[in-house]
Amino acid sequence: MADAGSNLIVALDFDSPEAAVDLAAQLDPSTVRLKVGKQLFTLAGPDMVRELQDKGFDIFLDLKFHDIPNTVAKAVRAAADLGVWMVNVHASGGTRMMRAAKEALNDAPHQPLIVAVTVLTSMGQEDLVELGCHDEPIDRVCQLATLAQDAGLDGVVCSAAEAAVLSARQRAGFLLVTPGIRQAGDEAGDQRRIVTPEKAVSAGATHLVVGRSITASRDPAATAVQIRSALDAQASS
Ligand code: C5P
Repeated sequence: MADAGSNLIVALDFDSPEAAVDLAAQLDPSTVRLKVGKQLFTLAGPDMVRELQDKGFDIFLDLKFHDIPNTVAKAVRAAADLGVWMVNVHASGGTRMMRAAKEALNDAPHQPLIVAVTVLTSMGQEDLVELGCHDEPIDRVCQLATLAQDAGLDGVVCSAAEAAVLSARQRAGFLLVTPGIRQAGDEAGDQRRIVTPEKAVSAGATHLVVGRSITASRDPAATAVQIRSALDAQASS
């Protein structure tokens, strides 16, 4: 599916709705989209999503649904009715669950993009082993991306470190949404598979999710503008 808006998505991971609204007020909806995840949604709910949408922002509702097909389908439909631009599910919920999510949108007046989380960017090889998976992260990511594509989803959430491999093997237009983005010199924090914004895009990432690199910087609005400019310069070079 074509997607004409910004490829820079700012993760509003905040302790209070006020902090999220404050940051949004410093950002321009024509240059960034916003991600509302579990923390902010649990604090402030659908009203926060509506408030941000009313300010003109496209919202990626990052609740990573992972449940039985019927429940996930109904949750995805509720997200569609809320008007969000993008919603996600865990690919490890399986093909039946992902197909049910997609089918739930068949008669929806507004159809958000649906992407599937492959392997969390906070997970490394040792975390997979602990779960009984002895694949390299890239192999597991490829397997889950194939399931997501076959189920008719619009793309996956993956590490930019995997974007080059996925962009070569997935269908044209399949979205590669990449968190785990850090500018040179930033703290990795809990993330393991991190990449700079420029490298992520040149590897084939179609959308970048940036949280702490922007929200924890001294001047979040200026950092967002700086990343936006670097991405625009790269796109026009
Ligand atoms: O602060 P940071 O840039 O690490 O934030 C990344 C954001 O992307 C967080 O909101 C996190 O929940 C989300 N995310 C992720 N890995 C995924 C999917 C989403 O880090 N696989």
